[in-house]
Amino acid sequence: MERFRVAENRVLDVDGHSFLFLVRENAIFEVAPEMKILLDRCSSNGDLSRDEILARIGRSPEDSVKTFNGLVRRRVIETRTDKAASPTGAQATGYSIPISTLVLHVTDDCNMGCLYCYRPPREKASNRPPEEKRMMTPEVAERAIDFLFERSGSLKKMVLVFFGGEPFLNFDLIRVAVKHAKQKAEESGKKIDFAVTTNGTLLTDAAVRFIQENEIGVTVSIDGFEKAHDRYRRFADGSPSYSAIVPNVAELVRASDRRPVVARVTVAGGAEDVPVILDHLLEMGFAEVGFAPVTTCDPSYQLDDDCMKQLLCRFGALSERFLSAAAHSDFFGFSNLIDLLVALHEGEVKSYPCGAGIGLFSVDPEGRLYLCQRLTGEERFCMGDLTRGLDDSKLRIFRGQAEADRKEACGSCWARTVCAGGCYHESLVREGDLTAPNLHYCEWIKSWLEMGLRVYGRIALDRPEYLDKLSIMRGHASA
Ligand code: SF4
Ligand code: SF4
Repeated sequence: MERFRVAENRVLDVDGHSFLFLVRENAIFEVAPEMKILLDRCSSNGDLSRDEILARIGRSPEDSVKTFNGLVRRRVIETRTDKAASPTGAQATGYSIPISTLVLHVTDDCNMGCLYCYRPPREKASNRPPEEKRMMTPEVAERAIDFLFERSGSLKKMVLVFFGGEPFLNFDLIRVAVKHAKQKAEESGKKIDFAVTTNGTLLTDAAVRFIQENEIGVTVSIDGFEKAHDRYRRFADGSPSYSAIVPNVAELVRASDRRPVVARVTVAGGAEDVPVILDHLLEMGFAEVGFAPVTTCDPSYQLDDDCMKQLLCRFGALSERFLSAAAHSDFFGFSNLIDLLVALHEGEVKSYPCGAGIGLFSVDPEGRLYLCQRLTGEERFCMGDLTRGLDDSKLRIFRGQAEADRKEACGSCWARTVCAGGCYHESLVREGDLTAPNLHYCEWIKSWLEMGLRVYGRIALDRPEYLDKLSIMRGHASA
């Protein structure tokens, strides 16, 4: 006889309303108070037969069946078979997975020497050895783009990202790559989107015009107001960089009428100023600001437990401001929360923390393929090259080890469909193993997810259409 059980869940009280978060579905919705009581009654007894559940529902036979069917349909109640199935993991080990994003590591060189940079060394740019100043050639870029189109399968839209070092040190190459990618897109009837991550110091008028004409999405690495930014983000000779970036950003945001410009802040040393930094960057004209704790094993930059608590507390304050803006249908560009809300709204179930080594790869100046931009140059994580293609056996091993369900700690964690173990690069630096779960921040992630679920619930109660709008803004067709 088929046995049923209540699916893994968390119930949250949001302003007197009960919300149910279904872990395996990454779905959240409001439930009536009697439903919560029913779930409690069913949960405490392990596997139950259909009749046992109907008895616990305790309505007229017809209504009980209706309620039961509704719970099964919404996957609140599942069979043992449902529980054993891994909805997305199996798909990702197949090799027909199309590549949707290719990162061109257009140069290793950088005109800055940020103190917390994960890419050593920090000496003066002109003194760096030649192997740290490699430039991608047009030939490699064109082969890489051809590779992206060949491996894009049935996808209609792909993304080409320019990354470095500082990508605008190889601006001529970016021009060639954009031209070639647009030509390929036209020939193949597909669409290509462009993105670049830059330190903002080399955004000349010509670069800004090029960005605007080609609708390139720009993320500027900037750490806030002058003092906060110049603390760690300095030119290679040690001089401060804030005053060089400000006029460039002003011109960029003025000219970028088609693609919003985003700021990415590395949080190092402390998190106290996070809200002030966000205000400052929004005032500068950035559409959104995202914060990421620095990835380093150097304790002088790392956020210790107290700082991480402070960061969570600041995120809480920003979430309240986000809610106030949402209540007036206004926009508040706090990227971390927007990303989380959209992931929840779309019910995106993660088996892997990100697209690295699945639908995303990076290419170094020599045409070698890596799992992602941050792992470029790490020989162990080289997954092939543009001449021979991807190394399928290496990739198979990586995908097998990286899946969240295979990581002991993650398999039973209620945050796994959102976190999936966390960034591989962070794992490598902090846990010493690329595919190890990021155990150092589990509690933080769970608290942040819980905060996000509450914000989601509050918006869903008052202004559900606002969540649809966020999803559409992030490129989801409809919500
Ligand atoms: S890394 Fe930690 S929080 Fe993330 S899924 Fe694994 S156990 Fe959960
Ligand atoms: S491994 Fe980390 S840095 Fe690389 S794509 Fe994933 S989240 Fe980003």
